[in-house]
Parts: sequence; C-alpha cells; structure tokens
Amino acid sequence: MVPMVTPFEWLAQQLPSIAARMGDLPVTSSVQPQQVRSFLAEHFDLEQSTPLLEALPAVSSMLERWTTHVTHPRYFGNFNPSVTDGGVIGEALAAAWNPQLAVWCHAPAAVEIERFTLDFLMGKLGLDAESCLAHFTGGGSEANHTAVICALTQCFPQWAEQGAAGCEGAPRLYVSAGAHDSFFKIAHAVGIGRAAVRIVPVDGDLQMDVTALRKMVIEDARAGCTPFMVVATAGSTAAGTIDPLKRLVAFGRVQGMWVHVDAAYGGFGVLTERLRPHLDGIAFADSITFDAHKGMSVPMGAGMFFCRHPKPVEAAFAAANSYMPAPTAGGSEPYLNTLQWSRRFIGLKVFLSLVEHGARGYDTLLEGQCAVADVLIQGLIDGGWQILSQSPLPMVCFSHQDVRASLEAHENLAAAVRKRGQAWISAVTLADGQPALRACVTSFRTTPADVATLLSEIQACRIGRFGHIS
Ligand SMILES: *Cc1c(COP(=O)(O)O)cnc(C)c1O
Repeated sequence: MVPMVTPFEWLAQQLPSIAARMGDLPVTSSVQPQQVRSFLAEHFDLEQSTPLLEALPAVSSMLERWTTHVTHPRYFGNFNPSVTDGGVIGEALAAAWNPQLAVWCHAPAAVEIERFTLDFLMGKLGLDAESCLAHFTGGGSEANHTAVICALTQCFPQWAEQGAAGCEGAPRLYVSAGAHDSFFKIAHAVGIGRAAVRIVPVDGDLQMDVTALRKMVIEDARAGCTPFMVVATAGSTAAGTIDPLKRLVAFGRVQGMWVHVDAAYGGFGVLTERLRPHLDGIAFADSITFDAHKGMSVPMGAGMFFCRHPKPVEAAFAAANSYMPAPTAGGSEPYLNTLQWSRRFIGLKVFLSLVEHGARGYDTLLEGQCAVADVLIQGLIDGGWQILSQSPLPMVCFSHQDVRASLEAHENLAAAVRKRGQAWISAVTLADGQPALRACVTSFRTTPADVATLLSEIQACRIGRFGHIS
C-alpha cells in the first residue's frame, strides 16, 4: 500500500526524530564492508526507477545502523559535532534553491547572506570587515590550501607564472609538531613538495617552541632556502593546544613571513567569554582558517577562510573568460577570489545557526561543552588517570599508570571502549611523542550523565584488559 505522505513530508517527520532518538542508539557500528555491499545490491537496482518513499526507509535504516554516530552525545571524537536545527534546514534549503554563488548577479541573496554572516564573524575575530576578505570553503583543508596559495603569491612574485621553479630559494613553511597533516598534502599539491613543511618541536605545554622555530628559520635561510610562512595552530587535533599566537605573529612580522592561524577547530573560542582570551592575537594574523562544521555545530562541510590582504587573494584566483557574466558594480564575484568556481550556498547553514542561537546562545552552548569537559577531567583525576593535555578547549588527553606507555596499548583500550557501543574515544600520539587516550566534548547535547557513562566504560575496559599489568 502506498503511504499517504509525500517524500518531503516523510523527511519532515524523520529529521527531528534523528536527534531525539540518537542517545538510545549504539554510537558505533561493527558492520563489515561485504554486508553493506550485499544489502545495496539486494535492495537497489539502479537500472529501474523506484518510488522514493519505498527506498527512503531502507536508506535511513542503513544510515542508522551502519554509521559511527558523530552526533551522538557520547561521541567524544574528532571535532565532528551534533548539528543545529538551523544548520540542517539551511542545508536542505540550499539544495532545493540551488543558487550558483560563482557570481553575484546569479545569487544576490545568497552572496549577501554569506557576506553578512562572514562580516559578523570577522567582528568576533577582531578583524575589520571593510579591509579583509573572507569566504566559505568546503572545510579547513581547503581554507589552509587557500592560505598557502595566498602566502606563496605574496612572497614569491614569480610563483604565479613559474611555480616552485621560479622561486628564489626553496620555499619553506613552518608548523608545530601538533599541526594538522593537511599541510603535507597542500605542499604536495602546490608543487613546493612535502619537504617544504618544516616541523617545529613543541615545549612542555605542547605549544610550538618559538626559540626552536627561530633557529630553524635562520638555519634554513643560511642553507639557501626561503622561509615564507608560519602556521600557528589554534586547537591542535590531538590535544587542543593553542600555539602562542601573539609571539608567532610578532616573529612573522620581523622575519617578513606570512602568519596563518589554523583555528579550524579552536576558532569557536571567539564566540565564548571563557575562551576568547586564549585566542588573543588571532586578529593580527595574515590569514585564518575556522571551521563552522566543528565548533559551530553546523553540518559538514563548512570551512571559512579569512584574510587581511585582499591583493594576493585576488591575484591568486583571478580568471579572464568570455562565458561568465560580467562583474556587477558594487557586487563581489566569488569565483574570482576563491579556489572554487561553481559555488554552493555553504553559508546558509551557518547563517541560520546564528539566527537560531545568536551569539549569546552560542556562548551558552560552548560554555556548556567546556563545563562538561571540566566534569570529565575531574572524573578522570578522581579515577586515578593522569591528564596529559592542558587545553582550555573542551577536550582532554589522558593516560594511566596501568596502561603500557605505547600507542598500541592505548589504541587497544580505545577500541575496547568503542566495541561496547556506549561511547567513542580514540588514542593519539601527542606532539611530544607520548601516547594518550583522547576525549573531546564535540556535542552540545553531551551531559554529565554521558560523562559518567564514558568514565565507567573506560574504567571497565582498563580493569578488564589491563588489570593484571602493572
Ligand atoms: C579539522 C582540521 C583541519 C582539516 O579541516 P577539514 O575541515 O577536515 O578539511 C585542519 N586543521 C585543523 C587544526 C583541524 O582541526
């Protein structure tokens, strides 16, 4: 019998129930590739058309059963958030209207909503929206890629036409040992080579060691290379570490190097009173990466790139052709100052999330996540765990004297927790080489009760597997 709803009505009933039921679902899935493939082959014949209403329940059930649920309140994982209602609705509306944001004249409403949203966030970052450029990206990797392209364009006048071969002295960029690995892919992609990424050791607080950086820059310059860029991480992936932003900005100024702050994760700090002081100095960076799809709880992918120098951005992404509409006076042509050409309306979900919660609402949500992380840290200390990270952001890395000091032992413990299906945590190697367990409060729906469950799961797995090792 054909149900008496349309596919859109079905969707409108389904969407709210996903968040409502999430806490009762297992966080993880143990499905094997073959099981998913057989299910698809059995249920879907793409030669035929199938009414959406017949297919949707099966697709929905696949997603429910065979997903690591990053929107689960006990997913203490890799910066993948629960999602706001405004974010989900924004995603759907952007798809339905499908505006083309390459040029202003095709999408005046959408381009200006993005601009309005980015101007607001520039205010929070301490940037002057009049003199800076900003745009949405697919994610932090694309924003970091954009930053490296702009820095090369600014620092090496020949690079635009001749690539690395035209650069005087091999280009070198500096990241801390805790930085995101996207910079290796980017160095590869822009043709300066992975060896151009120089890894600066960290100090006892896991922050980039500025003295070591200075030494490396001097040595590299002596060896005939050209240091052109320093990347300060604000919220490292493993430990949530924030590099000394002010000192790195000052260092970059003196050396004539481009300073980029990779705040893909930590950027949300500017939206909350408690964390804002930890990002002091971010406004003086040459460029910034900030992912709305992490700390702002917006569905993937929504990265952002901010730059204080419009010229290299415009030079890097200039294009001349006959088939695109002529620029609109007073408008802005996104395809001429971004890496993407056709552009989807990424900013709508960010805009609607801000509409829904307002800056004050975000302050409350984020403060709540930090407070839940405080409960977690206290619980770990009470349970005899050592805290190995000092991040002000809502995440913690920890270890126990009973767990062998190897990454493998920590990975085994994290895997044992995940296998029980009640919570998701991971194991990492910190920037100083120590192995640790890592738990990040990524969901604004996580409560102290969820933390209590996590703690008892961790304790059960430690005693179960490692109780006899000392
Ligand atoms: C997540 C992250 C990235 C990569 O961003 P994507 O949005 O996954 O492309 C880069 N740097 C840092 C510090 C991150 O946390």
